[in-house]
Amino acid sequence: MNAQLKAPEAASDGRHTVDACFLGPYGENDTLLEKLVVEFLRDHVYWRRNFHPEDPPAISTAAAQHPEYLAFEARMRRELHQLSAALKKSVPFHSPRYIGHMASDLLLPGLAAQILTLPYNPNNVSEDAAPVTVELEVQVGLQLARMLGYVHDPARPDCAFGHLTSGGTVANYQALRLALALKAFPVALQAAGVPDIVLPEDAWGAFNLAPRESTLLVEQWQQWLAQASPADRRLWQARVREERIEQRGLADFFAAHPTLQVPKVLAPITAHYSWSKGCKLLGLGRAQLELLPERGMRVDTDALEETLERCLREQQPVLLAVAVMGTTEYGTVDPIDGVVAARERFAARGLGFGVHVDAAWGGYLATLFRNEDGSLRTRDEVASGFTAFPSPDVYAAVAALGDTDSVTVDPHKLGYLPYGAGAFICRDHRAVALLSEEADYVFHGDAPKDYLGRYRSLGQFIPEGSKSGAAVAGVYVTHKVLPLDHAHFGLLPAQTIRSAEAFHARALRFAEEMAGVVRAVVPFPPDSNLVCFALNPAGNRDVAAANAFVRRVHDELRCDPRQPLQNKQFFGSVTTLRPEALGEEETHRILDALGLDVATLDGEGGDKLMILRHTLMNPYLIDRENGISYIDLYFDHLAARLRALLAKG
Ligand SMILES: *Cc1c(COP(=O)(O)O)cnc(C)c1O
Repeated sequence: MNAQLKAPEAASDGRHTVDACFLGPYGENDTLLEKLVVEFLRDHVYWRRNFHPEDPPAISTAAAQHPEYLAFEARMRRELHQLSAALKKSVPFHSPRYIGHMASDLLLPGLAAQILTLPYNPNNVSEDAAPVTVELEVQVGLQLARMLGYVHDPARPDCAFGHLTSGGTVANYQALRLALALKAFPVALQAAGVPDIVLPEDAWGAFNLAPRESTLLVEQWQQWLAQASPADRRLWQARVREERIEQRGLADFFAAHPTLQVPKVLAPITAHYSWSKGCKLLGLGRAQLELLPERGMRVDTDALEETLERCLREQQPVLLAVAVMGTTEYGTVDPIDGVVAARERFAARGLGFGVHVDAAWGGYLATLFRNEDGSLRTRDEVASGFTAFPSPDVYAAVAALGDTDSVTVDPHKLGYLPYGAGAFICRDHRAVALLSEEADYVFHGDAPKDYLGRYRSLGQFIPEGSKSGAAVAGVYVTHKVLPLDHAHFGLLPAQTIRSAEAFHARALRFAEEMAGVVRAVVPFPPDSNLVCFALNPAGNRDVAAANAFVRRVHDELRCDPRQPLQNKQFFGSVTTLRPEALGEEETHRILDALGLDVATLDGEGGDKLMILRHTLMNPYLIDRENGISYIDLYFDHLAARLRALLAKG
């Protein structure tokens, strides 16, 4: 088919595809969504009626006339109307005037699939409760694995595995849980004294294998069990289970292995606070989370190297090195390639650890780097249509995703899907066996289960129990309608990158135009689609005063539940730049550019710098239909508000 069909699409930047993707800021696609919802609600009803057509209706048609029925209906309507009215105070994520947090309009295929699925109420805890959507969830894992460059053919023994979670926080928690299981498992094999399996000599060696090696041990162990007699199998399974960290608990495990310390998690200082939560939840303790300094808001690989050297010297094991693809505050991309290279070097020296990429925000940017056949695009190919994206560093980082051990991606962020959809994907599904609650899950009767068969009881592996199958359906259908490559789903992130580049250019012009009024600085060029903007009233040298000013600006740009939304022209957000994160050189550079005195940087409201933060994910920021740029309108508005605030004094 394609060549002919595709030509006009390419010529229009996929604009007309995007036109059909969302309900739209004005509700332009309302009839489309309405038709879908009504059609599939009716379809659901027919399904009920055709289940056992011999069963008569249990609710009589006369019931609807009964006063109690009518009273109930009236109460329900009243409450629903009140809810609907109250919800009008919601944050207008759909509007191109909203450039605050990581939320926007919702993709119609996902929204419709979710609404369609809700009345069937599948529970993805297991196939018994979700015969259809559990399989879709496993497929979503493979779709995301392909986007990331992992092996995604279930026929291959080293195929990846992914599942959905309620969000990125829980996906990150799953990453910690799996990494710990994988790290401690060889120690259990060793302590149990399993015959025939070759292991390092001591506990330190076993605890510091590279994740790839530990994964192969899991497989060897299962093969060993498969050939053992039933009695031996039960015996050795019990022995190994007794030695596992999941069975003993951290205190007992580390008491039994005094040469081992509780491992550290190394994450950039820009990491999301879910890493702190995760270390607490897993019982590692917040003290085990070591935050690494960065350069230009990307983790400093030299500092990583030094930290790893120190860990090796002090016999301090490392659980995971976390790299962020699209930091929550700045949209920057860590040098994933550099972190992977460090993993290889240190594994060779006996300090094995996993690399996890927290791509909760930036994960779907990877679609821009994929051809339709799944291969990686060259940097030049990705770069066409953009001014600066992807920088060589960003390209190298994304190209290295396939070499990492696991990744978090949030479909409810740049996937434009409703909340309750995060995802965890690990490179090699064989590792996941360690999470199973059922020790002998591989054996079903006598036949080992195939890939899909294993994951039919998803609840064995995931942090949650009961889980929305409707959310899964939304993600699956979206990935089918918009496959995760540059020509399909990639249309959406491409637009956000173009918006961010336009926003960045406009911000630089704004800084020139407003030079006499405020000093305005983009503290570092954006890696992706978040752009930060630092402001200081002209002539002011005091950091605390600059922060107070930015806070007043933000008060005008944020949702205030006590005021009608329509009073707001635009919505933005704020974040901070912390000197301890920036390092001295960067801090001086940025404060100098703003005309701020470094000496005023301490205590009482001046220990960090407040800056405006803009998320450029709305698909309608540049309205070509009406020739409106909401980016220009935003800067016009900002200029007027800054002048007014300064005039008030
Ligand atoms: C949003 C985010 C998270 C947390 O995800 P939730 O879906 O809010 O739980 C974690 N890491 C990063 C980088 C994020 O941007």
